[in-house]
Amino acid sequence: MKLLFIGPPGAGKGTQAARVADRLGIPHISTGDMFRHHVSTETDLGLLVDSIMKAGEYVPDEITVEMLRERVAEPDAAGGYILDGFPRTAGQVAALDGLLGEDGLDSVVVFDVDEDALVERLLGRGRADDTEDTIRNRFKVYEEQTAPLLGIYGERGLLVHVDGIGEMEEITDRILSALSTQNSEPTTDNS
Ligand code: AMP
Repeated sequence: MKLLFIGPPGAGKGTQAARVADRLGIPHISTGDMFRHHVSTETDLGLLVDSIMKAGEYVPDEITVEMLRERVAEPDAAGGYILDGFPRTAGQVAALDGLLGEDGLDSVVVFDVDEDALVERLLGRGRADDTEDTIRNRFKVYEEQTAPLLGIYGERGLLVHVDGIGEMEEITDRILSALSTQNSEPTTDNS
């Protein structure tokens, strides 16, 4: 199964992607985690993306797509995976379509969360790229570049909306049950 988790910064998608991937026995692929690993181990890529991440901007598509392409080609990804934080731009959607085909994803899980709750959650997280200015900019970039992806995947009938407010365990169960409901529905003929 190939899933994409999408939602505004701080919606809890990373935590939930890791938990759901664990329950489904498939890898959790987070481009944010991969970039953070490059930064902390001071690779060339890490040195390049550090200031971009600190500003709350997106890493250029060419770099992100190449990193993702290599990751999904690894043997553990052969049976499916959860993509967390990729694709995030229309260009990345096109690149993913090129890799998987337009019908490559099974579902796109969307986190619905109130913005005030998110800012509070992010300020409490204490990550290096969680200053108030960065948070504000990440929201703006999300609205401009990533929110439009919901239109693309919505047209393909892939969206599964999940209420992202609540206890961590409860949200994991919500996601798993929403996915099993979606997958047991008869598929529509798009031809
Ligand atoms: P995340 O952990 O998903 O919130 O990602 C943290 C930061 O990594 C983002 O604010 C971007 O700077 C960068 N990043 C992660 N994934 C992507 C992506 N798909 N495209 C561009 N930049 C990304």
